[in-house]
Formats: sequence, structure tokens, C-alpha cells
Amino acid sequence: MPTLPYSAVRRRGLMLVLSAPSGGGKSTIARALLEREPGLSLSVSVTTRKPRPGEIEGIHYFFRTVEEFDVMAAKGDMLEYAQVFDNRYGTPRGPVENALTEGRDVLFDIDWQGNRQLADNARPDLVSVFILPPSLGELERRLTDRNQDGPDVIARRMAEAADEISHWAEYDYVIVNTNLEESIAAVQAILRAERLKRVRRVGLDGFIDGILKG
Ligand code: ADP
Ligand code: 5GP
Repeated sequence: MPTLPYSAVRRRGLMLVLSAPSGGGKSTIARALLEREPGLSLSVSVTTRKPRPGEIEGIHYFFRTVEEFDVMAAKGDMLEYAQVFDNRYGTPRGPVENALTEGRDVLFDIDWQGNRQLADNARPDLVSVFILPPSLGELERRLTDRNQDGPDVIARRMAEAADEISHWAEYDYVIVNTNLEESIAAVQAILRAERLKRVRRVGLDGFIDGILKG
């Protein structure tokens, strides 16, 4: 094994998954993280759903037909994919693998099915965080105050919340999003510690070999 100076020790990037019931605060926390953490970028998913007003191809999603989606999945071009309610969603493999090799971290806004596939296929690279509201009453208040959806959509999101929340124990960390700034700081603390993990430090063995040889 070649001995290495400490300056040659590199870090493999990590995959930070955030999941939450709709209204839990995931997008707000993700936005703050992307602003505050220069080494972090968002994984842009492929979806078969239609763009919502304001959504931009390549920024929010890659919008594809069902046929195009299925071809990508069959070719193994997706790290994970799932049917979420009426549409398909998946993570393109290439950009994530490049980022991890180059020591950059990737943020994922994916559901519990995607998290489960990453846990099965990429466990050493995965750091998963589940965001909970302080109560279902507060979740409904936040969905209402967000002013984005009508009463029917809010009722559907509330009905779906219990199902999403039932997967909380499949995540490495659980954050109850009572105070927004504290929640953001908690995810930043998780990132800081996870980045220091021995298994992510490429070349550490060569450096330590050098120390021992003197
Ligand atoms: P999600 O992306 O999980 O659906 P959002 O990030 O859109 O949720 O948050 C839902 C609403 O709740 C938004 O209006 C957001 O500003 C608000 N919100 C998020 N976190 C908190 C918090 N800790 N306290 C109060 N309001 C919050
Ligand atoms: P929306 O249609 O509201 O943007 O997203 C609906 C749900 O799909 C959210 O729970 C979101 O986390 C999830 N989702 C978005 N992209 C992906 C993906 O690439 N894979 C998986 N498994 N879920 C995704």
C-alpha cells in the first residue's frame, strides 16, 4: 500500500435523503441546506407527471413519457424508481455516481420506496433523514397556511400522511420539525458528522501506514 500525506486523503461524497409527509417542511429545509452547504447539490429526478406552473425542465424534474421512463429503468440508468400515487419517479444514476466519486454530496427529495431501494443497493453512501411535523393538527395548519392547495388536495395529503409517517423507523435520523432553524441546524450537524466517517475517507489507510512507518 502506498504511504500518503494527509493532504492526499480524500472524501467520498454521501447521499442525503430527506423524506416527510407533504407539509412536513422538507422543501423549506432542503432549500436552506442547498443555500448554506456549498458541497451539496440536488438530485434532479425523472418523472412521468406533467409539469406544474413554474416548474422547469432539468431544474425541478426531467419530464418524460411513460415509455421513455421505462426504457431508462430497463437500461439500468436509474439508481432507484417507484410509482408514487399516479406517476412514476426515478433518480438518474450517472450524475449521482460522478458526484460521489468527486467528493460532492447529493440531496434527494424522494419517498420511502426510493429510500428503501437506496438502503438495499447503496447502504454505505446513504444518510437518511425523516422529517416529522409536531402533530397532525400542525401539519394541516401548515398545509392550509402554505396557500398552495385547495381543501380537497389538503384532505388527500392528510389521508396520505399517516402512510408516509408509518415508514419513519426505516430512516437513520428522525427530526421533529417544531422550530425551523433548529431543524436546519440538526440536518447540518448530521451532515458534518457523517462527512467525517472513517468509511468515507479515501486513502486514510495509506496515511496511517505512513504514520506507523514513521
Ligand atoms: P413539504 O416540502 O414537506 O411539503 P414545506 O417545506 O412546503 O413542506 O412546508 C410546508 C409549510 O410549512 C410551508 O408554508 C413552510 O413555510 C411551513 N413550515 C416549514 N417548517 C415550519 C416550522 N418549523 N414552523 C412553522 N412553519 C413551517
Ligand atoms: P411531487 O409530484 O409532489 O413533486 O412528488 C411526489 C412525491 O414523489 C414526493 O414524495 C417526492 O419525494 C417523491 N419523489 C420525487 N422524486 C422521486 C424519485 O426520484 N424517486 C422516488 N422514489 N420518489 C420521488
